[in-house]
Order: sequence, then C-alpha cells, then structure tokens
Amino acid sequence: MAKQKVIVIGAGVAGISAAMNLSRNGYEVTVLESREFVGGRMFSFTDGKTGDVIDNGQHVMIGAYHSFLGVLDELGTAKLLEPQKALQVRFVDKEGQSSIIDTSKLWGDAGLLYGFMRLNSISKSEKFRAVLFFLKLKKGIRGIDNLTVRRLLIDNRQSENIIVRFWEPYVLATMNTRIDSASAKLFVDVLKKALLSGSDNSKMIIPVAGLSELVAPFGDWLADRGGVVKANNRVEGIIIEKGKCIGVAREGGENLYAEYVISCVPPFALEKIIGYGINRKLLNTNTQFRYSPIISVYLWLDRDITVDKFTALTGMKSQWIFNRRSITKAAAESVEGYPGLVQVTISVADDLSELASKEIAELCHNELSKAFPKAKGSELLHHRVVKEKRATIIQDIATVNKRPGAKTGISNFFVAGDWTDTGLPATLEGAAVSGVAASNEIIRNK
Ligand SMILES: Cc1cc2nc3c(=O)[nH]c(=O)nc-3n(C[C@H](O)[C@H](O)[C@H](O)COP(=O)(O)OP(=O)(O)OC[C@H]3O[C@@H](n4cnc5c(N)ncnc54)[C@H](O)[C@@H]3O)c2cc1C
Repeated sequence: MAKQKVIVIGAGVAGISAAMNLSRNGYEVTVLESREFVGGRMFSFTDGKTGDVIDNGQHVMIGAYHSFLGVLDELGTAKLLEPQKALQVRFVDKEGQSSIIDTSKLWGDAGLLYGFMRLNSISKSEKFRAVLFFLKLKKGIRGIDNLTVRRLLIDNRQSENIIVRFWEPYVLATMNTRIDSASAKLFVDVLKKALLSGSDNSKMIIPVAGLSELVAPFGDWLADRGGVVKANNRVEGIIIEKGKCIGVAREGGENLYAEYVISCVPPFALEKIIGYGINRKLLNTNTQFRYSPIISVYLWLDRDITVDKFTALTGMKSQWIFNRRSITKAAAESVEGYPGLVQVTISVADDLSELASKEIAELCHNELSKAFPKAKGSELLHHRVVKEKRATIIQDIATVNKRPGAKTGISNFFVAGDWTDTGLPATLEGAAVSGVAASNEIIRNK
C-alpha cells in the first residue's frame, strides 16, 4: 500500500519531532522550511571577526527534557551534550557575593534539601519557609489557575530576598516572563517535573557544540526513510477544499498536496498563512499571542573572567553568564587574540530591545566587572548582541489558559509548536512534545 503523505510546515524542533514520529510510523513526510537551515529558533553561526561559532542564544536543557533528548539521541547528536551529575548552580549578586546550590551530595529530594540548606545568600528562616513551600508543592496545590508567580510566592511566605536571589532567576530562565505576570500554574508544573523530580530530571545540560550541529543530521535521517526536507520553501497558505486541507501553496513554487498537514510555525507566522484566505471560524484555533524578547550578549575580552561554565546573576540586568571558552570545544581551541569569550543572557529584555548593541554590551561588561574580581579592569575587545524580539510567547495567566491543542476545526490540519498547549513552558521540550502530540493525532487515525 502507498504511504500516506504528510506535509510538515517548519523545521524547528516541533517540526523535526513531528516528522520523525510520522516517518517512524510509516508516513511519507515532506518538511517545508522557509529558511535555508533547520533548527528554527535554535541555531548557530560564525562571528566574522573572530571566527568563533556562536548561538542565536545559549540554550540550556534539563534532564526532564525526555522528548527533546530522545530526538537528539536518534539523530546521534546527544554526544554533543554535557549533562551535570546533579543540579549545581552558582548565584552571584551585583556586589560579587557568591553562593552555590549543589544537590549532588545526597540522592533525590534529600539532595535538593541539603543543597538548598547550604545556600548562604538566604537566611535560615527563609530556607525553612522555602522547604515548607516545597513540601506543599509535593503534596499538590490547587486553586492557582488565576494566580501570578509573585502572588503564589508571597502567599507562601517567600521573602523579597529569596524571590530576587532564587525564584526570579528560575522563572526568567524557564518562562521568559516576569514573575509579576507569569502563570503560577505553569510554574508549579515546571517545578514538579523538573526541580522536585529527582536529580536526573533537575540536572542542567549544556551543548558543547554550536546549536545547529545538534539538528544538522535531520535532513539525512529523514531522507534515509523516504522523506525530504525542502529548505528555502516558504508556505504562503493552506489549500482548503470542501472543508478539508488538501495541500499547501508555496511562495514562488508549485502547490504541494498531501493527506495531512501539520503547521509547526510560531503563531505570528501561522497568522500570515491564515491571511492567505482560510476561514477563521472553520480553523477554530487561537493565534493571538504577545511575545517576550531574549537578548544574548557576546563579549570577547582580553582575559578569562569566570570560574564556572555558567553562573546565575541576581539583582542585575545581566541574568546568566556562560563561559563559552570552557563550554564549547571549538571555542576552547580558538582563543588566539581573544582569550575570554562569555555570553550574557537577558530574558524579558523589552526595556533594552531598543538600545544600541554597543550600549547593551557596555552595560553588561560594567556589571560583570563589578561582580567578578577577574573581570575588573578587563578590556572589551569585541562584542556581538543578538536580539530575538519574539523569542517566546509571554506565558502569563491569560495566555496559558488560551493555548490551543493540536487539533483544529479542519480535521486533517494540525498545529504544533512551543506555544501550543503542552502543559509545558515554551521551550525545546515543549516544542518536541507538541510535535509528538500533533503527529499522534494522525497516527491514531491510521
Ligand atoms: C535566544 C533564545 C534562547 C532560548 N533559550 C532556551 C533555553 O535555554 N532552553 C529552552 O528549552 N528553550 C530556549 N529557547 C526557546 C526554544 O528555542 C524554542 O522554544 C524552540 O526552539 C521553538 O521551536 P518550534 O519548533 O516551536 O518553533 P521555531 O523554532 O520557531 O520553528 C519554526 C520554523 O518554521 C519556519 N517557518 C516559519 N514560517 C514558515 C513558513 N511560512 N513556511 C515554512 N517555514 C516557516 C521557521 O523558519 C522555523 O524554522 C530560547 C529561544 C531563544 C530565541
């Protein structure tokens, strides 16, 4: 019997995960990607001046990313990841005071509690109240659908000090949304699946290569199974006949036809596809979202300035610092002329988006010079600022309750992407899970 055809629009993580699941289950998959490379919002490129490979933004994974890590395993690139043994993060404040959470000393929850109790930036009573909060979360917490993270934390007697020094970095990193509006429900789900689910899930994982390398084998993987990735193929619209989707229209190309279509593009891109003339009532899916920027600041310096591979920064505009020279293998070898290379991440960066790159780079360099003794007096040799204005959707209360599922009003047209309703934040794992969910809707009908 001839294989059923599926068109996947977009070769980000959601599209890759959907295509792999379909291909494994005997479908003929065509992936249409508007750009010339796969990976979507996770990609790397070479900095012209220094020759260093840098990412559009440092991506961090955790052990709980089962779906995304499964994709990399199958593509054979999981070896490009460096997992921690257990969660270990140093926090540094703007005066350079440092404290570390190290959960590796004991197993499971005991390790988390032990690590937490040794954090020296928070008082004994703050630790005690945080532990009570953890226990409450473990038991299950209800009635939080309409709460913000800040309200939840205050209601659970978390002080401003522990909010700034512990909770805020966690929320910014996982939800790219301010704690004053971030959804408490999503936050609690994340804590339960990640921080409170043992060291295998909570440990952090960082790539030791540029992000594009992680997904580079995807085209060959699909071709080996009879599918194809067509890069530089922008989908303009979907073609509807008698209430069903029969294919897609491509910019400057012929129409393509298939039994099923999955859109794996962000909501603003889906909006354009809908603008091609789809009846919104028929489609019946929400695409109205607001976005939150992430700014990644690469600083090339005359010296190495940090001790750890990465550090959480508190009370500053700079939120995380990654030492690229000690993280990626290629960067470690290309120190000539530029001994230090760090990347600073600023989530929810709306207040900085309009500033010139030089100003942002100098701001971060100044902050680091105060917080890290080795950075004092360092010279900034070169900088590069990547502004991802629509890095993720804002994950506040209103939004989280309005994320659509995979099904639409058109029975053979599905949506996936980190913004859809996976129960997870808009992350690599959310994207991978959404791809599986949408493709399973098709596989279930076989
Ligand atoms: C700077 C930054 C840092 C981040 N850090 C982290 C992190 O540390 N950890 C984490 O888990 N997540 C992180 N994320 C989020 C993560 O990158 C995303 O959640 C994930 O990549 C989204 O994947 P996706 O497949 O849903 O969408 P996308 O990656 O956006 O993929 C959509 C694809 O569709 C293509 N496309 C769009 N329109 C069309 C069209 N009309 N026709 C054909 N193709 C089209 C696009 O080119 C793109 O390739 C970060 C994101 C950014 C920007």
